[in-house]
Amino acid sequence: MRKNLSEVNLKMAPTIIVKCTKCGGYMLSAKKQKTKICPYCGTNVTLQRAQHIATADSAPEASEILRKLKSERGFDRKS
Ligand SMILES: [Zn+2]
Repeated sequence: MRKNLSEVNLKMAPTIIVKCTKCGGYMLSAKKQKTKICPYCGTNVTLQRAQHIATADSAPEASEILRKLKSERGFDRKS
């Protein structure tokens, strides 16, 4: 299924997925941001030094990619 244009335009901020330098957890960040607090271990990650997993054109797209990455890795162990 392809998204229609109005849906795509909602949140067009380029978003990156980076890997935490300490715990290896994946997180989302706006591309223009310089640092990000890891939601898993609380480390202030310098995005330039962190490994970039993926880049997306919008926040929803990035979170979709992140969800797939997590399910592949079994990162969420709630079930
Ligand atoms: Zn972390």
